[in-house]
Amino acid sequence: MAITDKIYVKNHRQLASQLDTSFPKGAFSGATLDVLFSGDGIAKLDEASRDRVLEFAEDFLDCDCQSHPHCGCPERKFIAYLLELRAEGLGPDAIVDVMGDDYMLYAYPGDVLSFLDDSVRTLEAAERLADVDGRRDVGGELGRRRRQLSR
Ligand SMILES: [Zn+2]
Repeated sequence: MAITDKIYVKNHRQLASQLDTSFPKGAFSGATLDVLFSGDGIAKLDEASRDRVLEFAEDFLDCDCQSHPHCGCPERKFIAYLLELRAEGLGPDAIVDVMGDDYMLYAYPGDVLSFLDDSVRTLEAAERLADVDGRRDVGGELGRRRRQLSR
């Protein structure tokens, strides 16, 4: 399961009752993207929630793909957001706090940790391949990114 399948909407029940409809807890579930993040119901939310929901839509659902918001861009952008927080030096618990403040989302720190570990391993593997191919520039860039994530 991708990390984006393990990102949940905080106050889920409260939001569903404000919207007067139900949607899954998973932030990146198809129905959540439709109902909560790109639905017309946004006006029914209390102000604090509405701000966070709009912020999320602006930051992650801003593409013009035909299959929007089911094109994979929101997930890709969110993963980039997580890696950026990690590169800034945040650990799993702090990352979970920040996504709560920014977007009213939560995840289990253990899931974030596994995701970060996997990302480092993926970069390591790519680095080795680049070395085998003699592509030092690429290998060097991957190594730089890996070190940002593993410090
Ligand atoms: Zn897209």
